[in-house]
Amino acid sequence: MKILLNNDDLNEALKSVSNLGFVPTMGSLHKGHISLIKHSKKACAKTIVSIFVNPNQFNNKRDYIRYPRNHKKDLSILKKLKVNFVFMPNKRDIYNSKRIIKIAKKDKILCAKYRKGHFEGVIDVMDRLTNLINPRKIFMGEKDFQQLYLVRNYLKNRSKSKIISCKTIRDNYNLALSSRNLLLNNKELNIARKVSNNLINFKRYIINKKNINKLISLKINELNNLTDIKVEYLELRNKFTLGKTFKTKNSKIFIAYYIKKIRLIDNF
Ligand code: AMP
Repeated sequence: MKILLNNDDLNEALKSVSNLGFVPTMGSLHKGHISLIKHSKKACAKTIVSIFVNPNQFNNKRDYIRYPRNHKKDLSILKKLKVNFVFMPNKRDIYNSKRIIKIAKKDKILCAKYRKGHFEGVIDVMDRLTNLINPRKIFMGEKDFQQLYLVRNYLKNRSKSKIISCKTIRDNYNLALSSRNLLLNNKELNIARKVSNNLINFKRYIINKKNINKLISLKINELNNLTDIKVEYLELRNKFTLGKTFKTKNSKIFIAYYIKKIRLIDNF
């Protein structure tokens, strides 16, 4: 496994590599990331994983500072998985030119509505990383469904790299794995698991129901009444267009909520 710490290392290492799979991450790796890496190893001749906590996608500075970082453990996981390359650039390597990314008004929904500048930062870093690495395929998780949707749309006409979406990996209690779960204590983890199970059942319950709008607002109230929870949004949207819908066919329930100060997202 080659550890690449800057763009020169990267260019040198990738000189004669084709059929490269790329798994972008912010580190603190868990089984969700590992599943993306396994998909890449299966589909591509070589796999590169990036670890870069992108400051520009944090709309809240404290969130950026507090974001969990575990490089030593990450490297040992990646070594065991026999990943070919790990790219761990610093800010200078990524942000060597200035530009402004804008997302369309129609896309300012869900997290884009509440985390100002977040997806602009995500799209910017994904475009920069993709240009530097030039992979054949990029593996991204459905856990961050809106991110996948926006990055795929942005890169579609700008890059030859193909985005491959991978299913959300959950723990034994249905909670989606996330680096942010490390910030939760046991009691909070159990609350998050309760929310996941509740929404999995809710998604089944609303199939063919006529008053979905009403059921969703009742569900928001119910969740807000659980201890330490504040729902930011809970919405049913079409999974191809992300347009609002009141039909369960081809739809997903999207949630963002806080447990105390920790913000979690998921979709079902
Ligand atoms: P992050 O390190 O949180 O930026 O995530 C890096 C990639 O891993 C993104 O494409 C995420 O969608 C994906 N990912 C994170 N959590 C999961 C999960 N539980 N299951 C599948 N993919 C995930």
